[in-house]
Amino acid sequence: MQLMLLGLPGAGKGTQAERITADYGVPHISTGDMFRKAIAAGTELGNEVKAYLDSGRLVPDELTIRVVRDRLEQSDAKDGFLLDGFPRTLPQAEALDATLGSMERPLSAVLYIHVPQDVLLARLTGRRICKSCGSTYHVVFQPPAAEGVCDKCGGELYQRSDDTEEAVATRLEQYAHTAPLVGYYQQRGILHQVDGTRSIDDVYAEIRQILSPLRR
Ligand code: ADP
Ligand code: AMP
Repeated sequence: MQLMLLGLPGAGKGTQAERITADYGVPHISTGDMFRKAIAAGTELGNEVKAYLDSGRLVPDELTIRVVRDRLEQSDAKDGFLLDGFPRTLPQAEALDATLGSMERPLSAVLYIHVPQDVLLARLTGRRICKSCGSTYHVVFQPPAAEGVCDKCGGELYQRSDDTEEAVATRLEQYAHTAPLVGYYQQRGILHQVDGTRSIDDVYAEIRQILSPLRR
């Protein structure tokens, strides 16, 4: 299956991606995670994108498209993948179409996790991520058993540098570039809207229902 998660920052894409990859065996391809790893490793890519991530602005299309094309060529993506946070602009969506067209691997479904903007600030400012395995938590909505420690691997939890009120405001503004993608995929008949305001378990149950007829 070739899957994509669409939605505002904080809608719950990464949280649901953890479950989808565990159950369906598709690799989770998150451009945000890839950029954060590059920054942490101090690579050339990391140096190029750091200022964009810190401020909440979008990384330029050309660079982002290159990173995703390289990732889709890796062997683990040959039998399917789950895109999270890409595409975020129409040029990125068109570039993805061209890449998937040449690979003869069209998208199976786009899962649009819909939430109203007013719930996002609390979700994003309370988000915590594991430094070691990348698992997502929330101080109130999805707390770890022991404060600051990952349930899955014992790693240290940290707060993303762009989960501040200021950067969140910029990221929500930048979503204006992403919003047209809902219509873009709706027109193709592959967009599935999911109510992201419900509990994490309920959102996942809805996703499973959508995916069940698509499973090979
Ligand atoms: P995204 O990847 O779309 O930016 P995340 O999956 O990282 O969003 O979720 C943002 C925050 O909201 C995280 O702290 C997560 O634990 C929490 N969260 C995710 N889904 C829900 C939900 N359905 N209800 C409440 N909190 C949620
Ligand atoms: P995310 O982890 O998806 O919230 O992304 C974090 C940040 O990475 C964004 O605020 C952007 O700066 C950058 N980013 C991630 N994906 C993209 C993309 N597809 N296009 C441009 N910038 C991106």
